[in-house]
Amino acid sequence: MSNFEVRTYDAAGRLGELTVPRAGVTVETPTLMPVVNPHVQTVAPSTLESEFGAEILITNSYILHGSDELREPAVERGLHDLLDFSGAIMTDSGSFQLAEYGEIDVTTEEILTFQYDIGSDIGTPVDIPTPPDVAREQAVDEQETTQERLERATEVDTGEMLVTAPVQGSTHPDLRERAAREAAGTGLDVFPLGAVVPLMNEYRYDDLVDVVAACKRGLGERGPVHLFGAGHPMMFALAAALGCDLFDSAAYALYARDDRYLTVRGTEQLDDLAYFPCECPVCTAHEPDAVRSMADDDREELLARHNLHVTYGEIRTVRQAIRGGNLLELVDARARGHPTMLDGYRTLLDHAAQLERTDRVSKDAFFHTSTESARRPEVLRHQQRLDRFELAGDEVLLTEGGSNSDYDETWGVVPPFGPYPRGLSETYPLTAEVPDRTDRRAYEVAADGVARLVDLHPDVSFTLVHDDWPATALERVPDRVRLRDLHARE
Ligand SMILES: [Zn+2]
Repeated sequence: MSNFEVRTYDAAGRLGELTVPRAGVTVETPTLMPVVNPHVQTVAPSTLESEFGAEILITNSYILHGSDELREPAVERGLHDLLDFSGAIMTDSGSFQLAEYGEIDVTTEEILTFQYDIGSDIGTPVDIPTPPDVAREQAVDEQETTQERLERATEVDTGEMLVTAPVQGSTHPDLRERAAREAAGTGLDVFPLGAVVPLMNEYRYDDLVDVVAACKRGLGERGPVHLFGAGHPMMFALAAALGCDLFDSAAYALYARDDRYLTVRGTEQLDDLAYFPCECPVCTAHEPDAVRSMADDDREELLARHNLHVTYGEIRTVRQAIRGGNLLELVDARARGHPTMLDGYRTLLDHAAQLERTDRVSKDAFFHTSTESARRPEVLRHQQRLDRFELAGDEVLLTEGGSNSDYDETWGVVPPFGPYPRGLSETYPLTAEVPDRTDRRAYEVAADGVARLVDLHPDVSFTLVHDDWPATALERVPDRVRLRDLHARE
């Protein structure tokens, strides 16, 4: 029985439900797991639950295990009572500390048992977080160790507690894919994609997309997938479009401590803000000047609250976009926030065939909002499926204008999709809203569609009537197609 159920897809993004039996709750995904430091709570877990609607949070069992002050209370009272939180609680194992400090003093068996003993709902083995860009041999060695520990984790008696199977493999896509396949093979429950924080810190969203896409190929449709350490709302849409379901945020608190203010387009410094570009309760009730002059603790808490509002707001925006079938429009919009996000979006579209596998066949509308839109999975699918249609005769007209009875059959043509049987003109995605001043790329991709149809029918004679296509598009149309300009005719 899987604990994760997908309700609907958009690209590889999914609206899902994660059932957490030990907590007795079902968590809607994609979602955010705020990171709660057992020692320092910038915003109390009960407030996360009551004011921000947090259904799940994450805390570090290794810190609790190592704390003389908190270890006994955690075991005696349980995490839910200790933190005063009734939703689902996931615990990390100390792998992060392993990555930061080089060693930790617990085994997977010990820490999983401890997580079980303190009432964790989702526990984590001690994996080896292999950083980006390491040599292949190191990545292979460490991934094999991680896999052994995942297999040992399946032997530990953890009752109803779900257990995660972290996926490592550094920036080697084939190793990530293999690690993911092996992690999925353990039958464990949640799949964190590990050691991606350095990529996000360095704004390497293109490499991040390649890593996540590789992991997803290995995992197939298993889930939920947790993008470990991803807490900045600017990249939620991009990560969700790849099929990430869980994000965790320490950023809301860490950034607040440094007077950093999160937005969906990036990070601002409080010092640089004359206005708060946000409608949350914090920003509507305060002016930046007033916040700057507050005591450190008060300022930190207010900024943390704003950061949480923005972060949960973006989670809701992503969910609504998946439901409405316009997640890629959202990714497109968010990609304009930073050049490296645009690199991430363009890299996402390199994986259009992978996204296409789960993308919905029908949605409300396709908005062609940028030159990248021509590379979306809907365009790819339309052109791949041209082989499903028969042609009625030897003389076929492909036209942006009206039909013509001189031909055996008339097909429509529309950028960026290319040719289509006229009967489909009212079906998604051919109902796309395309700007009148379309970019050159859309015509070029339409020309590629013409070329594909022509190649599929070597014995048919084609005429293409186009509306002033640029030369770079026309040169992609096979030579044997007769060309006419729509307005130059007659
Ligand atoms: Zn705000």
